[in-house]
Amino acid sequence: MNSHQLFRRSRTRLALWYALVMGVILSLSGFGMYRSLVQSNWAAMEREMESISGTLHDSLEPMLPASENPTAVLRRILPELCLAGQSCNVSPTLIQRHTTGISDRSTYYIRLFNHQSHLLAFSPNQPVDLPQTFNAAPWQTFQSANGVRYHQFTIILHSSEAHHTAPQSRQASWGYLQIGRTLEPFDAEVNRMQWILVIGFPIALGVVAASSWWLSGLAMQPIYQSYQQQQQFTANAAHELRSPLASLLATVEAMLRLPPAQQHDIPMMLHTVERQGRRLSHLITDLLFLTSLEHSSSPKPFQSCCLNDLMSDLTEEFLELATIAEIHLTHHLPKHEIYVLGNESQLYRLVSNLMANAIQYTPSGGAVVVSLTAHDHTAFITVKDTGIGIATAAQPYIFDRFYRVDSDRSRETGGTGLGLAIAQAIAQVHKGSIQVHSDLGQGTIFTLLLPLTGEAAMP
Ligand code: ADP
Repeated sequence: MNSHQLFRRSRTRLALWYALVMGVILSLSGFGMYRSLVQSNWAAMEREMESISGTLHDSLEPMLPASENPTAVLRRILPELCLAGQSCNVSPTLIQRHTTGISDRSTYYIRLFNHQSHLLAFSPNQPVDLPQTFNAAPWQTFQSANGVRYHQFTIILHSSEAHHTAPQSRQASWGYLQIGRTLEPFDAEVNRMQWILVIGFPIALGVVAASSWWLSGLAMQPIYQSYQQQQQFTANAAHELRSPLASLLATVEAMLRLPPAQQHDIPMMLHTVERQGRRLSHLITDLLFLTSLEHSSSPKPFQSCCLNDLMSDLTEEFLELATIAEIHLTHHLPKHEIYVLGNESQLYRLVSNLMANAIQYTPSGGAVVVSLTAHDHTAFITVKDTGIGIATAAQPYIFDRFYRVDSDRSRETGGTGLGLAIAQAIAQVHKGSIQVHSDLGQGTIFTLLLPLTGEAAMP
């Protein structure tokens, strides 16, 4: 297939389209998965931060002093925090309590601001270059000088007294609690996913390209086979048409050059011309009929056909031919009538091709028996002869167009090599099949199987 330029080009184009479409689908789904993983990790991280800050907020609020200078109280309730402007004595307990089991404790830091946004206290593990100006936005992300990213959550704190005062004064906040964490693990995970995409995507694309090439080869195979059959058919048809045409032209030329003294030969030569012309016409009619069968352009809708009538008509028709050939032709028909759904003239043609072959390939003195039976929702028509038989090696090809076991003999008898091809095409149109059983020198049995009325599907 690859040696043929048209097919190689089509295969390459098909493979490229496959690869392109698969590549787009792959990249969209890969990018979608990446985005959703990043999103879900981010959402899980924010949920965790909210939960920690919520717990801290609930534990802190009842203990918050209302006084202007909360240093002493803060030192008492949050001993693990460093107070702004004072030396830092580290004994982490509170943050540990709320973050234990969640993740690495050093991941989180905490900061407390008063309502004027002045830093009151902070955990000792807070990053050194945190922005000093207070920003009350609930969620913030920033990057330190060394490139590490941080994510921070800010929540308002109210003092314990504020809970017992009038609702309007409750609006005034005591200050703000900030919980933040490094994004290092998150960024590392995102980085890892990006690497997987960067390395995995070209590999997947390579696999897609290879499988596209293979798949396009598979897809082109039946088209290529049909193209080859078509080529073969055209070559065979041209060959079959050429022989009678050449002979016809030669006869006409001979007639034209005939000297006046031999003019009496003209009628005999005209007979030859007529015979060759008929042969050509027969061949073309057969070819057209075969083509129409393959395109299922049946002229008439299927109708119920009585096979008993068809068989007895055909036997009667072939009786004269059989008698001339000194062949004993008989038929066995059942008493009850057997019907199939089909095109009567096509079925007639099918059985007549089988019977004509049986008579043609049986030497004089032989016998041809046609019989009709029905069982298992199927009608069986058998045409049995005691003729020359068909070699086992040739049997698979006898239904091919223009195939003849013995070309010379077949041509002599007027065969076109299309008889069995037409018979099989008709059988297939009728959802039936033809089986052959033959022994060389002993005889041949052709069996036609047709679904009985009600079983056959309409074309
Ligand atoms: P043709 O027009 O040459 O008979 P067919 O398609 O009818 O072509 O048959 C194909 C070939 O099958 C024939 O050339 C012949 O060799 C073989 N064949 C068909 N029927 C018989 C038969 N009943 N006995 C022996 N050979 C047969």
